[in-house]
Amino acid sequence: MDHVTVQGTDEDVKAALLDVNLPNLLLSMYCITGDQTWIAQDQAPAPVLAPEGSLFPDDTGGYNEAQADAIRASAAKVLIALRDGERTPGSVPNPEQFRELLEYGMGEEVTSGYANMLLEETGLIDRDQNWLPVMSRTDAAKRADFEVLIIGAGMSGLGMAAKLKRAGISFTIIERNDQVGGTWYENRYPDCGVDTPNHFYSYSFHRNPDWSGYFSKRDELFAYFDRCADEFGVRDQILFETEVTRLQYDEINQSWQVHLKRGDGETEVRTANAVVSAVGQLNQPSMPDIPGLEDFKGDQWHSARWQTKDLAGLKVGVIGTGCSCVQLLPKTADQAEHTRVYQRTPHWVAPSRDYYRSVEPGLIWALKHIPFYAEFHRARMILVFADRSWPAVVGDPAWEDQSLSMNEANHGMREALTAFMRESLGSKQDYLEHCVPNFPVWGKRLIVDNGWYETLAREDVSLETDGIERVTATGIQTSTGEHHELDVIIHATGFKANHFLMPMEVIGRGGQTLGSAWGNAPSAYKGSHMPGFPNLFCLYGPNTNIVHGGSIIYQIECQIHYVMQCLALMLEKSLDALDVRAEANASYNNDVQARSANLAWGHPNVQSWYKNSDGQVINNSPFSLQEFWEVTHDITPEDFELLHAGSNAATD
Ligand code: NAP
Repeated sequence: MDHVTVQGTDEDVKAALLDVNLPNLLLSMYCITGDQTWIAQDQAPAPVLAPEGSLFPDDTGGYNEAQADAIRASAAKVLIALRDGERTPGSVPNPEQFRELLEYGMGEEVTSGYANMLLEETGLIDRDQNWLPVMSRTDAAKRADFEVLIIGAGMSGLGMAAKLKRAGISFTIIERNDQVGGTWYENRYPDCGVDTPNHFYSYSFHRNPDWSGYFSKRDELFAYFDRCADEFGVRDQILFETEVTRLQYDEINQSWQVHLKRGDGETEVRTANAVVSAVGQLNQPSMPDIPGLEDFKGDQWHSARWQTKDLAGLKVGVIGTGCSCVQLLPKTADQAEHTRVYQRTPHWVAPSRDYYRSVEPGLIWALKHIPFYAEFHRARMILVFADRSWPAVVGDPAWEDQSLSMNEANHGMREALTAFMRESLGSKQDYLEHCVPNFPVWGKRLIVDNGWYETLAREDVSLETDGIERVTATGIQTSTGEHHELDVIIHATGFKANHFLMPMEVIGRGGQTLGSAWGNAPSAYKGSHMPGFPNLFCLYGPNTNIVHGGSIIYQIECQIHYVMQCLALMLEKSLDALDVRAEANASYNNDVQARSANLAWGHPNVQSWYKNSDGQVINNSPFSLQEFWEVTHDITPEDFELLHAGSNAATD
């Protein structure tokens, strides 16, 4: 737990407590004082219920004003005594106590598996203790000689570097851009931001109490990752404006030959003991394959390569209706004279009253100054936002209408979201039939509403659903022959997400290329490594993306933890490389595919970047967040071939 001290005047303390979540306050007070009256069963908070249209549960815990005032007054006394050195800040609860506290605060069952995961996710238990003691027993010089090359200085690469630094392992990050941040550096379209609460969408081991919003925007996210590069002390190990063009495995030395191309055209070959791909899934913008695109005389750009242009008085076309389009549309429509949205498939969009909500000053104070509060806050965010929706994404074989929904809860969401659409479309009710997806809710990531339907309902915005026949010099012609004059076309058409590691050429054992090994269906053992490519690890690799809710940083940290254990094993056993066995990989991925087929995003009506052209889900994780934590928490050494330099043969 971070070192936390109470600061401020009595009045500061009392004022801050007006902004905090009362159940979390009770749990913190219990941990500080050890006094059971803070968690009296006959005064337990009400179960978590989000008010209608809100993403966030009621912070009052169901207490009336008088009860709330009494809780705050007693808590203020404890905090003031703590500030004045009249009491100590208590101790970290043991796993069973922690589980019981979470149950008390949430008013619902919390399993011990979930509580164990949350103990690590909150930092109350240092998850690095799984591999750090093993590392520490190995020779420091050997660790410093072991070279890891990380590709990408986005959130995966920076997180990986932080842990390698902690382990004393040498590393270099190769970054194609001139800055860190990856996706949060590259994407700058209007209103670009995150749709997972920031207090969860941030490293578990490097929290930020100062987020200004519950869902921060691109600049603040970029600034956080940029700061992390310095605060982790890894910036000097980043080679900017450099691309990896080719990775070739050297079977004699059991190492990788890494071919680099710098911005000035210079090339270089480096040797690395291990390579970690941290390039993400959404780094290669996908331009639509529409005839005539190059004939267009106006400006056109991809949402991830935003161009600043005054759109006042211009006719703008936006192709695509995914998250990027939904986020950029209202502000684009505010500027343009007329905006046409070209939709191929509608997405599900969920209402959120809190999307632009600022974090209350008292909450920021509590996250910084109340012992245990930040931990319970993060745990609560995860309990509320992550796997809560998991039951609704799993197919129920007994469910009567499987063509449109997965189960009863999933169907209930369909009805609620359709009602929201109807209400928000105002006078444009004729759009309703085009806005209701034919796939289950969570078939694609549920988009958080920022005024999407209300923007479509504007008089100066039109939804075009006839399909694009071609782009002309002056606009877009639809399949019905209608021609729309346009000055600007924005391609919010997503990314080449199926092409993991593209455009690098990767050559593994026996001269096999990763492209040929994967073909149309990239897969990886635990999302992290592929047989025949020893010591090549992927973060946010195949079947690791989350759709049902949660933070991708969580998934990445699970994988970083997994990779660190692999490295610890190698260093402890004086191995040069490990290669996952083909049988282990096949068995893991057969399970992944079997699970995926019964989840909302595997539904036959879903066509998305999650699937390859054969309809196989290759991007998404088939696991709940807690399950993925379990999958990646411990390595299974029997699943690896253990390799030594100087010999092609495995040691076992
Ligand atoms: P996307 O979800 O892949 O959406 C691309 C859109 O373009 C889809 O509506 C797609 O239609 C359409 N499209 C593609 N090619 C087309 C063509 N030739 N003609 C007409 N329409 C075409 O891409 P995205 O919106 O950039 O989002 C990608 C991912 O980034 C998201 O799933 C999410 O994971 C992430 N993201 C997150 C946030 C956030 O956190 N707030 C924001 C932005 C992005 P079909 O649906 O018919 O294929």
